Amino acid sequence: MSRYWSDIVSQLTPYVPGEQPKIDGLIKLNTNECPYGPSEKVLAAINGHNTEALRLYSDPQALALKEAIADYHGLSVAQVFVGNGSDEVLAHAFMGLLKHDAPLLFPDISYSFYPVYAQLYGIQTRPVALAEDFSLRVDDLLAVGKNGGIIFPNPNAPTGIALPLTEVERLLQANPDSVVVVDEAYVDFGADTAATLINRYPQLLVVRTLSKSRALAGLRVGYALGHPDLIEALTRVKDSFNSYPLDRLAIAGGVAAMQDLEWFESTRQRIITTRERLVAALEARGAQVLPSAANFVFAQFPGRDGAALAAGLREQRVLVRHFRRPERIAPFLRITIGTEAQTDALLAALDVVLAAAP
Ligand code: PMP
Repeated sequence: MSRYWSDIVSQLTPYVPGEQPKIDGLIKLNTNECPYGPSEKVLAAINGHNTEALRLYSDPQALALKEAIADYHGLSVAQVFVGNGSDEVLAHAFMGLLKHDAPLLFPDISYSFYPVYAQLYGIQTRPVALAEDFSLRVDDLLAVGKNGGIIFPNPNAPTGIALPLTEVERLLQANPDSVVVVDEAYVDFGADTAATLINRYPQLLVVRTLSKSRALAGLRVGYALGHPDLIEALTRVKDSFNSYPLDRLAIAGGVAAMQDLEWFESTRQRIITTRERLVAALEARGAQVLPSAANFVFAQFPGRDGAALAAGLREQRVLVRHFRRPERIAPFLRITIGTEAQTDALLAALDVVLAAAP
C-alpha cells in the first residue's frame, strides 16, 4: 500500500479481544463475562422501554444513570462520568487526562489495552515490572519518579491479584501531581474499592464497568468516579467526540442494574463461591493458581505448555484465554469463572487433556 493512510495500518497495533466464537455449544470461559443472565429488573426496564422514543436522541448527559451511580456510591452527580463500556471511558481518560511530558506508568503485565491507547494518543509509557510473585509493588511505581499519570487494574488482569486499599492510598499520598487511574473492572469479586477515597484525592479516577459483576457486557456501560474537575475534563473530551455515547436502552438497563442490590449481591457471591471450588480443584490437579480477587483465575500446570493446554481444552469444547506474551505468563491459562455445571465440564475436559502426554 502506498497511500498515506497505509501508515496507520503499518504503525498502529490494535488490541486483540478474546474470541467471541460463532460455533454453538462451546463452554465460553475466555473473556470474563458473567455466566448468569442479568437481573430480571434490568430485563424488565429494557423490555418495557418505550421503543417509539428510539427515534429521539438519548440524554447526552445520561443523567438518570449518573444519578443511580452517584446514589450507589454515595457521591454527587458531578463526580460521575458515564461511557459506552469502560473501554471508552478509559480511552477518554487517555486522551484528556494522561497526555503529558512524562511517561505514563502501568504494570508490565496488565490490561493490554493500555499500551494501545497510549500509542494511539502519542503518550510516552513506562511499564513497571511486577514482582516475582506477580504482585504490583507501589514502591516500584514510586521509584520511577516524575510521571504523566499512573494506571493499573485492581484487581490486576490477567493475574487477578488485588492491591490492598492501604497500598493504593500510599500511592496517592506519594503521587499528588499526576492522575492515578484505578481500573476496577473486577473489584466486586473480592478487592476493596478506591471509590471511598474519591473525596480525599482530587487526582484519583476510579473506572468501573457493568460488564462483569452486573452481567451486561453486551449493553456497553462503564463509568468513572472522580473529582468534579477530572469529570469535567472527561466530559469535554466526550463532547468533542460523541456527545451521545449511551443509547436509551443502555441508560434504562444501567439504572435498573445499579439499583438491584439483591441480584448484584447474590450473583457476585455465587461467583466467588464457585471460584473457591475451582481453585481447590485446580490445585488438587497440580496447578499453581495465583491468588484471585476477580471473576477469573490465572493458573499454570508446572511442566505443561500453556498454549497446548488451551488448544487441548478447545478440542474438548472449552474456551479459555492464553497469552503468548510476555513470555513470563505464557505457561498460564486465564479461566473465567462459569456456572457450577460449566466448572464441572471444565474440570472433566482438563482431566482428559492432562491425561494426554505433555
Ligand atoms: N478493564 C479491564 C481490566 C478489563 O479486563 C476490561 C474487559 N476486557 C475492561 C476494562 C473493559 O470492559 P468494558 O469495556 O466491557 O467495560
